[in-house]
Amino acid sequence: MSKNYVVGFPRIGEQRELKKVLELFWAKKVDFLEVEKVASELKSRHWNYQKDAGIDFIASNDFSLYDNMLDTAVMLGAIPQRFKGLRDEALYFSMARGNAETVAMEMTKWFNTNYHYIVPELSLSDVYALNATKVLDEYKEAKALGIRTKINLIGPITFLGLSKRIDRGETYELFRKILPVYEALLAEIAKLDDEITVQIDEPIFVKDIEPKVLSLIKPCYDALCAVSENIKIIVTTYFEHSKEATKVLVHTPIWGIGLDFLYGQKNLDSLELIAKSGKKLIAGVVDGRNIWKNDIAKTFDFLENITQKIEKENMIVASSCSLLHTPFTLKYEEKMDTEIKNWLSYAVEKLEEISLLCKVFFNEPLTDNDKETLQINKELNRQRQESTRIHNETVQNRVENFTKLERDGTFEERIKIQRVLLGYEDLATTTIGSFPQTPEVRKARADFKKGVITKTVYEREMKNYIDECVTFQEECGLDVLVHGEPERNDMVEYFGEQLDGYGFSQNGWVQSYGSRCVKPPFIYGDISRPKPMTIDWLTYAQSKTDKIMKGMLTGPVTILNWSFVRDDMLRGDVSKQIAVALSDEIDDLQKAGIKMIQVDEAAFKEGYPLREENIEGYEKWAVRDFKISVSTAYKETQIHTHMCYSEFNDIIRTIEAMDADVISIETARSGNELLKVFKEAGYKQEVGPGVYDIHSPRIPSVEEMVEQIQLLLEVLPKEQLWINPDCGLKTRKWEEVKPSLINMVEAVNQIRKTLI
Ligand code: GLN
Ligand code: ZN
Repeated sequence: MSKNYVVGFPRIGEQRELKKVLELFWAKKVDFLEVEKVASELKSRHWNYQKDAGIDFIASNDFSLYDNMLDTAVMLGAIPQRFKGLRDEALYFSMARGNAETVAMEMTKWFNTNYHYIVPELSLSDVYALNATKVLDEYKEAKALGIRTKINLIGPITFLGLSKRIDRGETYELFRKILPVYEALLAEIAKLDDEITVQIDEPIFVKDIEPKVLSLIKPCYDALCAVSENIKIIVTTYFEHSKEATKVLVHTPIWGIGLDFLYGQKNLDSLELIAKSGKKLIAGVVDGRNIWKNDIAKTFDFLENITQKIEKENMIVASSCSLLHTPFTLKYEEKMDTEIKNWLSYAVEKLEEISLLCKVFFNEPLTDNDKETLQINKELNRQRQESTRIHNETVQNRVENFTKLERDGTFEERIKIQRVLLGYEDLATTTIGSFPQTPEVRKARADFKKGVITKTVYEREMKNYIDECVTFQEECGLDVLVHGEPERNDMVEYFGEQLDGYGFSQNGWVQSYGSRCVKPPFIYGDISRPKPMTIDWLTYAQSKTDKIMKGMLTGPVTILNWSFVRDDMLRGDVSKQIAVALSDEIDDLQKAGIKMIQVDEAAFKEGYPLREENIEGYEKWAVRDFKISVSTAYKETQIHTHMCYSEFNDIIRTIEAMDADVISIETARSGNELLKVFKEAGYKQEVGPGVYDIHSPRIPSVEEMVEQIQLLLEVLPKEQLWINPDCGLKTRKWEEVKPSLINMVEAVNQIRKTLI
C-alpha cells in the first residue's frame, strides 16, 4: 500500500552542485555533457534519498535545469518568436537568460514564495506541439534505477494563469489550443507502464479564481482523465486553500486531490465533499516551506481528526508543497548550535518525518529505531516550547505593552518643520542606499568574518570606502547623501546577525531562480536588539560631510518576509518584536545626530496574502509595525521608505497609512503612468519615483532623464518630488554609477533652471 507522498524535491543539490556546473557551463568552462552528467547524478541521488527514507510516491520531472514553468513552455512548444532558430540547450538557456542578441523572458515570483519562475509568452498565432522528451526520459531514468515515479506536471490552468499574452488578450483564450497537447502528453505517458500516477500541480486554484477560470476545471480534467485508463491523476494545490476548485474537482474522474493543511486551514471545510467523492486525499501536513521539526504527535492527532470525515485508507501523508522551498540537509550544518539545530528539519530530514508519521498513522510495525526517533521528536518539541533561548519575558512584556504606536505630529506639521530644518530644495536628489559592492569590499567582509583581518583593519577599509562614497556624492552634487552600505552583505542578514532571536545556517541554501540560491536567516526566538546596529557607520559617515547623511535600515516587514519565521507565534507578533527593536535604533540614530532615516520595505508587497480574505489582516499588522518602528522619530527627523516595485494601485491607501514622509519607488520603466495613482489618490507625502532603471547596465543620458522628470512634473508638483535612481546600486559597477548619477544631477539642474 502506498501511503506517503512527497510533492517535489529540491534539485540544486546538497552542495549546490547544479548551480556550480551550470555556472561553469555558462562561463564556457565545461561542456553540456558535464551538465547532464551532474544532473543525472543529482536526480539519482535525490530519488534514492526518498526511496531509502521509505517514501512511496517519489516524483520525476520535478527536476529542472532552470525552472519548471520554462520546461513546461518547452514541452508545449511555446517558444517565443525571437528564439526561433535556436535548439536544445542553447534555446533553453537563451529563453531563461537571454543571449548577446536576444533578451531573456521575464521572471517573476512563484506565488508568495521566494522562488521565481520564467513567465511564458503566448500569442494567438502560436502553434503548439508536444515535446515530451524530458518528461518521458526522467521517468525511464528513475525506472532504470528501480524506482517507479509519479510524474509531476504543471497543470494547464496554472500554466495559462501564470503566462502572459504578448498580443493582448487573455491567456485563458488559449485553453483549447493547450489542452490537446496535454492530452497527447498523457497518451505518451500511458505507454510507459501499465499503471502510472501523474501529479498535476494547479496552485493557481488557491487564489481567488474567477468563475470563467473555474469553469475550465471540469472540461480540463474530464478530458485529461479520459486519455488512458493506465493513468491515475492527482491534482495538487498548495500555499492556501482551494475550496472553490475542490468543489469542482470532486466531480471529475481524477484519482486524488492534494491539499495543503499548513497554509490552507480552510481546506478542512472540503473534507466531506472529498469523502463523498471517494477520492484519495493527499494530506499536506509536513511543512514544505519552513525549517522546523514536525511535531509528530501533534500532526498525528491532526490526521486522526481528518479520519472523522475521510476513511483512513483514502488518505496519503504528504509534504504541504514541494520541498524545493526548504534547504537540503542538516548534514553540513557543522557550526550550528546543537540545541537550535535539534529544532530544525530540512528537506532530507522531512522525508524521515513523512515516512515515520505515515507508519504511526497507519499503525505499521515500528522498529526500535522508529520508537526512539518518536521519543526524541516529542522531547525536542517539548524543549523547544520551553527553551529560554526562545522565550524572553522581558521582550514579551515590553512588546505587549508597547504603547507608542505612531510618531508625533501629522505629516503636514512635520514636513513644514523638516523643510526649514533640513533645507533641501525641490526635486532634491538622493540615492537608495547602497553603492557598488566592489570585489575589495566583499573580500574585506569575508576576510573579517574568517578572522583573516582584524577588526581595526576591517573598519579602516569600510571607512575608506565610505570616504570615497561621500567624496563622490559631494563632487557630483547630490543633495542627500548615503554611506553606501559596504558593511552589509544583505539587507536582512545584516540586521538579523545583530538581533537576538535570529539564527544562521552554513548551508541552508534555497533556490531563488535558475542557479541563484539564497540563504535566509531564521527567527527562532523572541527578538531584541542587544546594542545599536548602524550608529557607528552612520555617525562616521555624517562626520565626513556637512550635507545630510541619510541613515539606512531595513523595515520590520521586509526582515520578516525574507527570513524563515518561527511557527509557534503569529507572523504579525514576530514582526512587532522586530519593529520595537528598530524603534530603538531610530531613536539612537537621531540622538546621534542623524536627521533623515530610510526604512526600506522592499518586500512589503511580497508578503501580501494570496487570498483577498486575508489582506486586511496582513495590512493591519504590516502598517502597524512599520509605524511602530518609526514611532520614536522626532517630528524633525525625516522618515523615508523605499519599495522595489511600481504598481501601487491596490495598495496606495496602505502606503499612505504607513505615514512615511518620503517614499522612493521603482517607476523608471514606465514613464509617469504608474505615478498617476498617487495623484488620483490625493497622496500628500513626498515621492521619489526612480528616474532611471538600475537593473540594466546602461548609462542614462541627461536628455532622457530631463524628459523623465518633465513627465513626472506633469503628475506631481515639484515640491512633492524627489529625484533618485529606482533601487540600490550595489549590483552595479562604479563605471556605470558615476556617470549615471552625474547625469541625473545635471538633469535636475537643467530642470530647476526652467522652473524659476
Ligand atoms: N537600501 C537598500 C539598497 O540600496 C535597498 C535595497 C532594496 O531595495 N532591495 O541596497
Ligand atoms: Zn529597491
